Amino acid sequence: MTLPLVDARTEAHAAGASVRTPTTTVEPAAAPRGGGLDASQTINAPTTTTSIGGTTPEAPARVRAAITRFQLTRSVWRAGAAAPQVRIRLDAARQTAATVQLRIEDRASHRLVAKQALGTVRSGVDVAQDVTKAIAAKPGRYRLRLVVTDATGKRARRAGAPALRNLRVREAQATATAPTPHAGATTVFPVQGRCNFRSLQAQRFQAGRGGGRRHNGQDIGTYDGSPPVVAFTAGVIERTWWDDAGGGWTLVLNGDDGIAYGYLHLQPGSTVVRAGQRVAAGQALANAGHSGGDYEPHLHFEMRPQPWSGNRDRAIDPYPVLVKLPNPCDG
Ligand SMILES: [Zn+2]
Repeated sequence: MTLPLVDARTEAHAAGASVRTPTTTVEPAAAPRGGGLDASQTINAPTTTTSIGGTTPEAPARVRAAITRFQLTRSVWRAGAAAPQVRIRLDAARQTAATVQLRIEDRASHRLVAKQALGTVRSGVDVAQDVTKAIAAKPGRYRLRLVVTDATGKRARRAGAPALRNLRVREAQATATAPTPHAGATTVFPVQGRCNFRSLQAQRFQAGRGGGRRHNGQDIGTYDGSPPVVAFTAGVIERTWWDDAGGGWTLVLNGDDGIAYGYLHLQPGSTVVRAGQRVAAGQALANAGHSGGDYEPHLHFEMRPQPWSGNRDRAIDPYPVLVKLPNPCDG
């Protein structure tokens, strides 16, 4: 005999079982202090119950069910990431069903934080369901407990499955925000000589270039001179090299603040630091120049999160930082 699949609730009603609509309620008394959970809130209904159906929906036999599986797909849930799943299986001597609730407690205080109804689960079927997002908003350490009421009205016993599962909810990964020079760090304007921002207006950060490329730094014009360029902040020289792609003589300083500072178009032979060398803020590195292309002399100054390599798309506009520093530029 083949019958259409029915959902867990329909089946339970047909069987005359007492069933609750799968929802999650948050315990008023146990709502974490300062939490964003409204105590009367009804949270998400199950989204990923799987594998229900596939067998004949007979009335659940009034036999004891046992919990044979209780797993979490992950024990750490980074807020913002997909919810871990709870995987459950009940077994019984004959086909039966049971109502399942997940109780989520604070691991330290043992206080109930949320109740998540997982609906009616049939025996002999593996069921997977997302852990309620209600707790994703509250980083902490939780303990998950299954409460299974079988068709005899009793709590199902466990057979090989653990009683509890631990789940740690962690803060969302910080969005990849660009670092900024750290407060209090000594920062020094990178060009120590006659300079301007004016003659190279087109070479502001993100100025458009051919081929969809954008200017990735801030140019500091140096008129016809080759003034010294100095370490913007303390750090270690990552490397100095000839950049064939138009950068000419180039060096990168890994600042202690996590930013990689690029100095491009340096005067040939002027670099006085080498890879691995520690430098203080304001220490001379090389002279500005126009190597690498048919340029007006200038320093191309670029800031990226470290490492320099591979982070071109995460470059930071240096201008707001530069313009606030005492500097010798005349506009
Ligand atoms: Zn430039």
